[in-house]
Amino acid sequence: MPAFMQKDSPKKFLTLLAGSGPVVIVTHWSPDGDAMGSSLALYHYLLKLKKSVKVIVPNAYPEFLNWLPGNKQVINFQENEAKAAKLIRSAAVIFTLDFNSYKRLEKLGEVLAQSTAPKALIDHHQQPDRYASFYYHDVAACSTCELVFDLITALGHKKLIDKKIAACLYTGLMTDTGSFRYPSVTSKTHLILSELLKTGIKPADIHSAVYDNYSLKRLQLLGYALSEKLKVVEGLPVAYFTLNETELSRFNYQKGDTEGLVNYPFSIKGILVCALFSENEGQVKISFRSKGKIDMNTFARLYFNGGGHINAAGGRSNESLAATEAKFVNLVKTLF
Ligand code: 5GP
Ligand code: MN
Repeated sequence: MPAFMQKDSPKKFLTLLAGSGPVVIVTHWSPDGDAMGSSLALYHYLLKLKKSVKVIVPNAYPEFLNWLPGNKQVINFQENEAKAAKLIRSAAVIFTLDFNSYKRLEKLGEVLAQSTAPKALIDHHQQPDRYASFYYHDVAACSTCELVFDLITALGHKKLIDKKIAACLYTGLMTDTGSFRYPSVTSKTHLILSELLKTGIKPADIHSAVYDNYSLKRLQLLGYALSEKLKVVEGLPVAYFTLNETELSRFNYQKGDTEGLVNYPFSIKGILVCALFSENEGQVKISFRSKGKIDMNTFARLYFNGGGHINAAGGRSNESLAATEAKFVNLVKTLF
């Protein structure tokens, strides 16, 4: 039976941090707004606790997150493998944010698995692996940023949440909830937002920094995908896109350019499952979305080497784009 929630005591958190050794924060492959927002919020918070702290990402993240405070201090494992591995080897404690299995780190996962430092997991995805000695995990949280806010508050440090930390947390809350419209949004989400806004952050500016910073080509890729590439599965409430490498390079694809695309078919009356298959560095990267109780986490885990949440999951395939599409069309009926 998977654990749906485990919030270890703030006391345990403080014990873990008690020494003076360096802290490392790691987040998942292809970091998104919640991954970077939660990691950098925790980074700024731990700096306030006078910790020596570094954020390491397994690979690059989209340009629209470069404005986040602390961005320049982030170490990219792919670009700086030796430095990142050394930091991990000498860490006194390692925080793993917005994921719960080393598989989500690709090669960086192997380095982490070899480290004997205690791990702290802060995450809201389904079915966490048991590698940590401190868990702050809740699948009901709308984002990992919500959990970082909870943890800082539980430690009695809400007053330490300044404009920088608030901007990071707001970003993750906003991006992981589709700008506050997914079913994961609760009154608590809005209470947290209210607290964050009291620091003086400007929601309109943050929204604009994240969503109004794309290229013309990216908007044209969206138009092309919608008009030429959208397919509805015969007889099922399922719609999906495929995008091959040639199509993506025609629109000068940059990391993050397809973010959000997978959700568009929900605007068609009756659609309950959406998917996006895109060729990426020799693999097919897959995004799944659903409405209601249709479980994309299990579907992605069973068939597409992935996982995530019930309504939003991801995976990948080493088969061709056409073979992956055929496999999906064949298996998707099992969801109904
Ligand atoms: P996205 O479709 O936006 O890439 O991902 C949707 C959700 O599924 C995110 O919460 C993300 O962390 C998770 N996810 C994406 N790809 C994978 C994967 O390969 N494995 C697992 N376990 N989760 C994934
Ligand atoms: Mn998240």
